[in-house]
Amino acid sequence: MTRIFSGIQPSGELHIGNYLGAVANWVELQHRYESFFCIVDYHALTGPYEPDDLRRRVREMAVSLLAAGIDPAACTLFVQSRVPEHTELAWIFNTVTPLGELERQTQYKDKASRQESVMAGLLNYPVLQAADILLYHADLVPVGEDQVQHLELSREISRRWNSKFNVEYFEEPTPLLTKTRRIMGLDGQAKMSKSLGNTIGLLESSESIWQKLRPAVTDPARVRRDDPGTPEVCNIYRLHEAFSTPETVEHVATQCRTAGWGCIECKKVLHESMNRTLEPIRERAADLQANPARVDEALDAGAERAGEVARATMAETKQHMGLL
Ligand code: SF4
Repeated sequence: MTRIFSGIQPSGELHIGNYLGAVANWVELQHRYESFFCIVDYHALTGPYEPDDLRRRVREMAVSLLAAGIDPAACTLFVQSRVPEHTELAWIFNTVTPLGELERQTQYKDKASRQESVMAGLLNYPVLQAADILLYHADLVPVGEDQVQHLELSREISRRWNSKFNVEYFEEPTPLLTKTRRIMGLDGQAKMSKSLGNTIGLLESSESIWQKLRPAVTDPARVRRDDPGTPEVCNIYRLHEAFSTPETVEHVATQCRTAGWGCIECKKVLHESMNRTLEPIRERAADLQANPARVDEALDAGAERAGEVARATMAETKQHMGLL
């Protein structure tokens, strides 16, 4: 069966941007492919963090993923640091990765330019990412366009390692470019992001979501109630596309263009559509929060399964490299 690997940073509770951009896709993919989904806590160490906060964020991410529909019976969900082979393989890959390739990575240049003192972990981040993927011999990696450069480096690392040891052991993973929805924040200015404070949490209450939707930015052309609008420029319309039925989306477009309703009516319909999707997720999350042992069980089983595959890969890798 074709295997996929994908990782997500332990940013705590998911927001609807992460959900629509990646996790809703994973929920579908887990039934089509042998799937490994990893909460990448080692990657999170390359930024500033507090240990207690990191622990909390990993758990909240696990709860969010399970509540969103990631099913431990259908896939392998695990925390990266529970499988030490990730860093072991990353060290090996460091020995076949040219420094120049790492320095050319756009994300590195971008982040390094904003830091006073740049740690080696930030530079080597894509090497660990290559290890994450190749440890599981993943055939496909679901990625957004901003991750394609890192994946190309993983392909390069697999070629270099194979060539150095004269064996076709690591297959080059292929990007599974999925139709990702770029969800703008409620300010309509930038991508939805926790650091910008413009998000809606996946597990937020219905009331709290409405408090955020009500003042959210819409088409600036709709100043008065009878001004017609252009749905395609409005973030609320984009959210309708993600949460409402196709019939409702069509109705929204017509009502907007003809000024058939005001933005508040439009937002009320969106709020109902969001509740239909999010209420079952909130209920599952509440259930998991009340039964933390179920989260532990899922993560233990995931670490066990991932560890089996990772240990086998490391044993074979070491054998090819002349390590005892
Ligand atoms: S009617 Fe809806 S789609 Fe149109 S501008 Fe207002 S909120 Fe946006």
